[in-house]
Amino acid sequence: MKEEFIRNFCIVAHIDHGKSTLADRFLEETHIIGKGTEVSQILDSMDLEREKGITIKSHAVRMVHNYQGQDYVLNLIDTPGHVDFSYEVSRALASCEGAILLVDASQGIEAQTMSNLYLALDNNLEILPVINKIDLPKADIEGTENDLCEILGCLPEEIIKVSAKTGEGVKDLLDAIVTRLPAPKGNPDTAPRALIFDSYFDMYRGVVVLVRVFEGKLQKGDKIKLFSTAREYEIEEIGYLGLKFSPQTELTCGEAGYIIANIKEVADARVGDTITLSKGGCENPLPGFREPKPMVYSSIFPINGEDYENLVESIAKLKLNDASLIYEKESSAALGYGFRCGFLGMLHLEIVKERLLREYNIPIMATTPSVRFLIKLKSGEELQINNPVDFPDPSTIESIMEPFMDTEIIVPTDYIGNVLKLVQERRGIQKDIQYIDEKRVTLHYELPLIEIIFDFYDKLKTVSRGYASLDYTFKDYRETDVVKVDILINGEKVDAMSFICHQDKAYNWGKSVTETLAEVIPKHLFKIALQAAIGGKIIARSTINPLRKDVLAKCYGGDVSRKRKLLEKQKEGKKKMKEIGSVSVPQEAFLAVLKAD
Ligand code: GDP
Ligand code: MG
Repeated sequence: MKEEFIRNFCIVAHIDHGKSTLADRFLEETHIIGKGTEVSQILDSMDLEREKGITIKSHAVRMVHNYQGQDYVLNLIDTPGHVDFSYEVSRALASCEGAILLVDASQGIEAQTMSNLYLALDNNLEILPVINKIDLPKADIEGTENDLCEILGCLPEEIIKVSAKTGEGVKDLLDAIVTRLPAPKGNPDTAPRALIFDSYFDMYRGVVVLVRVFEGKLQKGDKIKLFSTAREYEIEEIGYLGLKFSPQTELTCGEAGYIIANIKEVADARVGDTITLSKGGCENPLPGFREPKPMVYSSIFPINGEDYENLVESIAKLKLNDASLIYEKESSAALGYGFRCGFLGMLHLEIVKERLLREYNIPIMATTPSVRFLIKLKSGEELQINNPVDFPDPSTIESIMEPFMDTEIIVPTDYIGNVLKLVQERRGIQKDIQYIDEKRVTLHYELPLIEIIFDFYDKLKTVSRGYASLDYTFKDYRETDVVKVDILINGEKVDAMSFICHQDKAYNWGKSVTETLAEVIPKHLFKIALQAAIGGKIIARSTINPLRKDVLAKCYGGDVSRKRKLLEKQKEGKKKMKEIGSVSVPQEAFLAVLKAD
């Protein structure tokens, strides 16, 4: 297809504003699915994506839309919707020329939409403003229109109004994609340059690589080279993505599609990498490639010790499909055998945990997350520590560095005070404050990553009634005073509960953790002492009083139905306690530090 008849676009929207529903209407309108079929939300293929209402992987769907007698190819390239994956988002956006900015008329523009809009503008995308859910009685179309005009500097007539639910306005929107978004402009007659915007592992096909061709063309049978690894492959299959693979002989300049080239692991087809020919290829890769960098570390353990062998196999399988997951074996006195893992962020951790449970039926518990500290010892030796267990004796330490993040928070002006207070508590360094309009501001801060991963996002949402949005990228390492805090249950140190935090917070967090433990650990027949300590020094303590005998009678009895065995096993796993000495400790206790204030 000639470039002038191609449009590559994505949809930028806040969660629940109707992105998936609109994508379904597009597919109906372009006859990829039949009208009224309940194929609902085709883009989110994983159960987990549907449930969380977020897209985790990028996808691409090719549609053909006829405008005034001419067929146009519209490639919808969908992006993940979370800050953990902002690099993946940026590569998917880089594959597009335009973006639909979709806003729910009953909610108006939300903070999150803005940070996604900025990402799109950073990538020089043409923005097509669209108001959705105009069928709702409480839709405030005019108000939303005014806001959009103010932010984008556009005219009200330029805004398209649709109902993704009823389909109203959807055909006009497809027309506007053709008439208002630019066609790709690359040189078709030169060596190929194609961007990998996602890759995934398919059980039957091996690694499937999603690409956008920027120059030249890729053909079946081509010997290709990937820039970051300098490895060479042969294209076995190439084609378009729809509901199914649609093999072709080539992908030409401006097109998006997939290739299969006997690549063994997704780690070999990295997001952001450039594909060219192994002989006579282009000189330079496309800009913007980054190695996936784990930022958050945590140890995962099977809740049932007998699942360990199974976990070894399952995590290796997960890794085939998730290049950014890293792991190594670990053993804990309290929790037995498991893995120390590195993740892109907290959501990534959550996803891995959930997938192990759902896809491999292994209930998992994860320890308090940490970041990587750079530690210089008095002996001159330098260490990289991401596990509190490995934290050296404080008397041997010369200096410690911790990662800082460039952080952007967008918040309605009403909540600035609350947010500034929170950020200050988290050791934030203010860079600048910009007003977007009279109702919203952008706060730029530098924040230690460890402060972000300890439940910062949830607290930010709480103090802003859900309106603030957060975005952050790695800035640099800075000298810091952190200490390791150990937790003792009845005098026994629980290695998996140790955490590293800033010295100024050790006392408060230690206290808060022992208090949380006192709440989540059930009463026993004996008294339980909970202590927090730095080195040998106790800094906080709480006590759980013994259970009175008469209450005990009510706790037992009742039999569990075994009908839905599999489900029960999972549920039980979730409830199952760990024995620390003679104390039964529920799983959530291992994350008590995240609840600390
Ligand atoms: P996403 O998170 O942006 O993908 O949003 P979804 O497509 O999952 O939509 C979120 C909710 O809004 C769902 O319950 C949809 O049925 C509903 N929804 C989407 N578009 C419309 C619309 O135009 N009108 C109405 N009334 N509801 C809609
Ligand atoms: Mg969705």
